[in-house]
Amino acid sequence: MNIVAAQVRQRSSEADGEPRIIKSRKFYDRDALMAYDPESEDWQKQLARRYDTHFEIAHVLNNVEDVPMSTYDTFDMKVTPYLAQLMDRDDPNCPIRLQYLPSMKESLSVQMAHTLADELGEAEDTVPGTSVVHRYPRRVLFLTTTQCGSFCRYCTRSRIVSHSGERAIGRADLDASIAYIAGNAEIDDVLLSGGDPLLFPDRKLDQLLGRIRCEAPHVKFLRIGSRLPVQLPTRITPELCAVIEKHDVQMVNIHINHSKEITPLLRSRLKMLRKAGTMLGNQSVLLKGINDDVRVLRDLFMDCVAMGVRPYYLYQNDQTLQGAHFTVPLSRMLELYEGVRGWISGPAVPTFVVDGLGGLGKMPVIPSYVEEREGHIECRNYRQERVRMDYLLDGAQI
Ligand SMILES: *Cc1c(COP(=O)(O)O)cnc(C)c1O
Ligand code: SF4
Repeated sequence: MNIVAAQVRQRSSEADGEPRIIKSRKFYDRDALMAYDPESEDWQKQLARRYDTHFEIAHVLNNVEDVPMSTYDTFDMKVTPYLAQLMDRDDPNCPIRLQYLPSMKESLSVQMAHTLADELGEAEDTVPGTSVVHRYPRRVLFLTTTQCGSFCRYCTRSRIVSHSGERAIGRADLDASIAYIAGNAEIDDVLLSGGDPLLFPDRKLDQLLGRIRCEAPHVKFLRIGSRLPVQLPTRITPELCAVIEKHDVQMVNIHINHSKEITPLLRSRLKMLRKAGTMLGNQSVLLKGINDDVRVLRDLFMDCVAMGVRPYYLYQNDQTLQGAHFTVPLSRMLELYEGVRGWISGPAVPTFVVDGLGGLGKMPVIPSYVEEREGHIECRNYRQERVRMDYLLDGAQI
């Protein structure tokens, strides 16, 4: 049946008074989307309103790039209505649109020789039978789910997130992971990540955190990495805050890449989290065309500290299959650091890091300000003013 015939048939069946089956709660009308109040309903209901393809979101945004459906073979699309409201209606280069809407550049990225599904070698460092990545001394990354509130196109874990069926993390994986942590007394830091751990209902999160606290009393530091507060701030509820407080989760790291993602709703919900007694950190990814700009980064980091969120890491973009077009060269990363350090509050400056190919781990990227050169100690400040401090040379001390 061709499309016109299908439309005619649908119209005539509506005219017959047959009930229309509403499969989706999505907004296909811009006015309806903009009139929607994300605080008016439960956060879980909003997940049912997410856009799943560029075709769908083109109902509420203009100039949406057309991509082949095969794009979603590599990585799904999901966008919450709250994020869609923040996206510029017309500008395809809106920093929020670029993070979430697929692009033709993804297929170029997939063809590049150096892009990898698991560039960081996490699979190799995963403890067999669990979803725990044990790479560093004393601390583990515990992947708890493969789902997220919305999918970021550059995601470093796109090999496991989205496509829930095949790679899902099940109950058995969670049990085995907790048993591993419980059985290894040297692990004193557990970082819950995914996917997004805050997608779990409060009751399940309560159980999971409770089991870690109870079965692994040697864990001193419990942290959660989640982007849900930024994608769906109403996920932060008094009930969630009570769970965080009950299990003394000492740190929640969120993920903001641009000040445009900071809204009054996000601010007010983060304040609730802070009152639960947890430190808030922010992990950003350096993304070409989105935040590879000194002014953008200065504003982002200062806007974070203004909300009581400490910028923690700024990551170089990993060479995932679909996301290589976001990569900023190292030389530019160093320049950006120089444009931030000294120019804004010290606590607002995160550590810039590159995560090493094949599992080498995180490495700081910091320009050198104090150097030994030709028998002198050469120092320069953020303004390029210089001084020699030769008393720091080996053997110059009393
Ligand atoms: C980033 C990361 C951690 C945590 O590292 P910190 O520098 O302590 O924040 C732990 N495990 C893995 C595999 C990681 O990638
Ligand atoms: S929220 Fe995090 S894990 Fe999920 S898609 Fe975005 S970057 Fe990946």
